[in-house]
Amino acid sequence: MRTPEKQALAAGLQSMRRIGILPGMHETISTEGVTPVDGPDPDRVETWIFDLDNTLYPASSDLFVQVNARIRAFIAAALAIDETEAGSVQSRYFDSYRSSLRGLILHHDVEPRRFLDYVHDIDLSPIGPDPALRAAIEALSGRKVIFTNGSTNHARQVLRQLDLEGLFEDIFDIEAADYLPKPYPETYHQLIARNGIAPERSVLLEDMAINLEPAAELGMTTVWVRDPERLDAAQARPDYVHHEVCDLTGWLRSLLG
Ligand SMILES: [Mg+2]
Repeated sequence: MRTPEKQALAAGLQSMRRIGILPGMHETISTEGVTPVDGPDPDRVETWIFDLDNTLYPASSDLFVQVNARIRAFIAAALAIDETEAGSVQSRYFDSYRSSLRGLILHHDVEPRRFLDYVHDIDLSPIGPDPALRAAIEALSGRKVIFTNGSTNHARQVLRQLDLEGLFEDIFDIEAADYLPKPYPETYHQLIARNGIAPERSVLLEDMAINLEPAAELGMTTVWVRDPERLDAAQARPDYVHHEVCDLTGWLRSLLG
C-alpha cells in the first residue's frame, strides 16, 4: 500500500504532466505523450469568455481574502450579529446559493448594489499592469467578453489596474445575471442570449472548475485556469474540464504559435 503522501505526490505529477506547459518544466515533463499545445484551434473560436477574479490575475494576490473579510463585515452589520456568526452565515449562503449576496437578497431583503459597492471596496495594489497578458489577449482573433459573479464597477477597476481595458466587448456581471451567480445554468443562457454567442464556437476560461460544468454541457470549450502557487494535488480534473492551464499568458501564446 502506498502512503497518502505518495499518492498525493503521484496525483500532483500526473496533474503537472497534463498541464504540460508549466514554465521551466516543459523539457522534463513533455516526454510521455503530452501534446505540447493542449487547446482549441484559435481560428475556430468566435468568442473568448473570461472570468475576471483569480483568472486574469493570480489567486495568490489574495484579493479574495479582502473581499471575504468585507462580506463578513457587511453581513455582521446588516444582520446585527458578530463577525464569527456572520462568517457562518456567509459559508451557509455560499454553500446553498454559490453566493452570499443571493442568500442576503432572498432572506434579508438586502439591496444588492449597496452590498456590491461595499465588498468590492478593496486595495487593488497587490495586482498591477500585465502587458504580456494584454498582448496575448489582443492577439486572439474573435471577440472577448468578461463573465463575472462580481459587479461591472469592480470589473472595470480590476481591468484598469491590470491595464486590460478596451479589450472586452461586454462585461456580463452579477446584475445582468439577475443576481443568479455562476454556476446556475440560467445565467449562461442569459450571457449567450445577450451576446449572441454560439457555444460550440466559444471558450470559457475560469479558475473555479465547478463554473465550467454548465458551459461544457452547452457545448463550450472549457479551460480551467489554475494558480501554480495554489495547486491542490488532491483536486482531480473533472471530465467537463477540457484544458487545464497554470500559465494563462504562456498558454494563449502557445495556442497562437
Ligand atoms: Mg474567478
